[in-house]
Amino acid sequence: MLNISEIFYSIQGESTYAGLPCIFVRLAGCNLHCKYCDTTYSYESEVTLSTDDIITKVKEYDPVKLVEITGGEPLLQLEVHKLFESLHKNGYNILLETNGSLSLKDVPEYVIKIVDVKCPGSGEENSFLLENLEFIDQEKDEIKFVLSDNFDYNWAKDFVMKYQLDNYEILFSPVSDKLDPQNLVKWIIEDKLSIRMQLQLHKIIWEKDKRGV
Ligand code: SF4
Repeated sequence: MLNISEIFYSIQGESTYAGLPCIFVRLAGCNLHCKYCDTTYSYESEVTLSTDDIITKVKEYDPVKLVEITGGEPLLQLEVHKLFESLHKNGYNILLETNGSLSLKDVPEYVIKIVDVKCPGSGEENSFLLENLEFIDQEKDEIKFVLSDNFDYNWAKDFVMKYQLDNYEILFSPVSDKLDPQNLVKWIIEDKLSIRMQLQLHKIIWEKDKRGV
């Protein structure tokens, strides 16, 4: 059984999949407490569902075949692996949004990982498990940095350089209401970085605190 915060259908707001219709399965519980966390409601479970129950719910949105498993931190619940298997068998493309603090070693190859590296502004800067870099596939996975200020920007830039991640899909995203996107664009352009700047689409389209979008 899996502790679930919410299951909903919307458009993907982040990553290179932004803009695509997507079904979201938000698992409850997180091992971090980021200062800017916008899903604190996911810390507690709303409902407990079996993998079969989740598949039935996801199938309500047929023929949509893109599913994101998010949280909280989805990898905290070991049964998530059964959910990966079941979604895969049912022909879904699976995105996994994870905070990078738990091992990615056993995440199946068919899952597209969007891995968050927590910057100092999050208050969780030492949470990233460095060995995870070994399990991030540069052909299909993505690495995300959520930035609160210029210090975070330089920290993220140094991280990319230090671990030679230039050939990976790197996403820099400003914390909304903290870092002006115009400043982030300016820094990326000035430094001629080959990095994708992203805004959280769902926060632009709907009110910032709206759930289920
Ligand atoms: S990892 Fe995500 S869900 Fe957990 S506290 Fe940080 S922002 Fe919130």
